Amino acid sequence: MTWMNKAAAGFPVYLAEARGARVRDIDGHDYIDLCLGDTAAMAGHSPAPTVEAVQRRYAELGGASAMLPTEDAAWVGAELTRRFGMAAWSFSLTATDANRWVIRLVRGITGRPKILVNSYCYHGSVDESLIVVGPDGVGTSREGNVGAPFPVTQTSRVAEFNDLDGLERELAHGDVAAVLMEPALTNIGIVLPEPGYLAGVRELTRRFGALLINDETHTLSAGPGGCTKAWGLEPDLVTVGKAIAGGIPAGAYGMSAELADRLQARDDLDLIDMGGVGGTLAGNALSMAATRATLAHVLTDDAFVGMAGLATTFTQGVQQVIDAHGLPWSVSQLGARAEYRFTSPAPRNGTESHAASDAELDDYFHVYLANRDILMTPFHNMALMCPATSAGDVDTHRQVFAAAVHDLMSS
Ligand code: PMP
Repeated sequence: MTWMNKAAAGFPVYLAEARGARVRDIDGHDYIDLCLGDTAAMAGHSPAPTVEAVQRRYAELGGASAMLPTEDAAWVGAELTRRFGMAAWSFSLTATDANRWVIRLVRGITGRPKILVNSYCYHGSVDESLIVVGPDGVGTSREGNVGAPFPVTQTSRVAEFNDLDGLERELAHGDVAAVLMEPALTNIGIVLPEPGYLAGVRELTRRFGALLINDETHTLSAGPGGCTKAWGLEPDLVTVGKAIAGGIPAGAYGMSAELADRLQARDDLDLIDMGGVGGTLAGNALSMAATRATLAHVLTDDAFVGMAGLATTFTQGVQQVIDAHGLPWSVSQLGARAEYRFTSPAPRNGTESHAASDAELDDYFHVYLANRDILMTPFHNMALMCPATSAGDVDTHRQVFAAAVHDLMSS
């Protein structure tokens, strides 16, 4: 991938092996991995129950791509319902595709053309999401969008996170099929919702007849059922991906029973062949076996308690260093995930957080930490805990971070 070669210092660390919260590169260096595949390895690298299930499915039972459903898929659907509350689930291979397909479905169901997202969101390489609030307050294409099929303002609307007035203004046009959002932004630093914001989003979407999609791909860090469960949210649809299959490609999208019924009743929508939704490998037996094992035995309810506890310790350690130096920086936590940002107070929306970006400082920390055997998520300063992360790992990060700040301040 092009971006792999853009890693800090101009060349990537090449992977040799990875287990749990550790990565070994081809030169034999071992790293504490706080990147965890930008969430795809939130279960830890190759957790034993998932390895076992994958080996059994692929080597012993076979049939990874037989285009037939498995009992594992039914188990996973029921488990996702327990976690997120959505009644009906379908599968994809990536979170991007889960988002693409729900976008088509909500357009189909509502007959409305536009999707509304938050400025500086990330939902994968989804055309509709590449829109930001411009300097004049009007939606405009995200810089660098490659080969857009249409001007994005024809397909999308945008509002700042934490801005209910802006959201109301955009929804009032009556052409928004759905709001697609992360309950907390996680791809432009962590931007947490202010009290009342998410309830306001739900009220406004209902008032203006727009559906609400929670993309829980990253916010799954908030707990076993993501922010949706942790905060008692009531979306119409949920999308998820990355971590659920322990590193094997799998994504999923779920919807309320009422929506599923509406969809099934639409004979005019081709949901099984060339209608633009689905894929040959989606829901394949291997992904489903991996997802079942990961959800049943690795990313369990109990595991999240330990992971969030470590992230709290991580956050406190970083905050102490920031305070000790009186730096205008902030650190935010979302369950098992934390991120420091070079601005204080913590940004309220994507545009503020984008403005606080500092590529040089990012590179400094990434290289400093990598040289001392700690990997952070590329391009931002996000750290994620997996079930195999230890208190010692978090303390090592605190010490190295403190040294990095000390060296920076005395240089
Ligand atoms: N949704 C969110 C919230 C994400 O953070 C990402 C990736 N960072 C995606 C979707 C897309 O995931 P993938 O690249 O695995 O399709």
